[in-house]
Amino acid sequence: MATTTTRTTQLEAVNTMLSTIGESPVNSLTGSLPLDASIAVNILNEVNREVQSAGWKFNTSWKVSLPRDVNNKLVVGTDVLHIEFNHLRESKSSYDPVLRGNYLYNLAKESYTWDKDFEYVTVIYLLDFETIPDLPYELVDFKKYYGLNFDSAKPSITMITSRGCPYTCGFCAIPVLYKRSWKALRPEMVIERLKYMEDKYGIKDFYLPITVES
Ligand code: SF4
Repeated sequence: MATTTTRTTQLEAVNTMLSTIGESPVNSLTGSLPLDASIAVNILNEVNREVQSAGWKFNTSWKVSLPRDVNNKLVVGTDVLHIEFNHLRESKSSYDPVLRGNYLYNLAKESYTWDKDFEYVTVIYLLDFETIPDLPYELVDFKKYYGLNFDSAKPSITMITSRGCPYTCGFCAIPVLYKRSWKALRPEMVIERLKYMEDKYGIKDFYLPITVES
């Protein structure tokens, strides 16, 4: 039976970031947060916005209708990152939109008012972190990696499930880099991902490094 992976939560993403600097995880992202956790949340939001601004299949719509309001203005939601008119339908010399606050401003006429409604508009949306798709495993040609840890004929991959190490082997940089901390994915999430990779890609052998240096 097919398995659906659980998406990474914002809390998990923040705790993963905290683990890379050897800080303790937090139980919640609400209320007052330790400084490092607060910084991690800000970085996550900033990167999330930056990545989504590029416009991906999951956050772009190409056939949006934009009707004018009673003041002939075009109102846009706060979740809109970018808007592009279809210039096969609309002349850029007459209609050249740019986001200004909650409205579209027409650079071609230096005005907030528009003389028509628009259709087939391309809109890039900013989605909540937890609603965006998880890792795009479908883009990986797994066969190229079968032989890295096992018999090259077997469907196999390496899966990272933890970071850091609590030990102190003198020749190893990991305890220094991670301040002897060790953080791991939830066991339930590891099981879900293993089952997903087996169900979807037929992978039977998994190499799970106990400690990971990156
Ligand atoms: S990662 Fe391995 S070699 Fe490095 S400190 Fe931990 S146990 Fe020792």
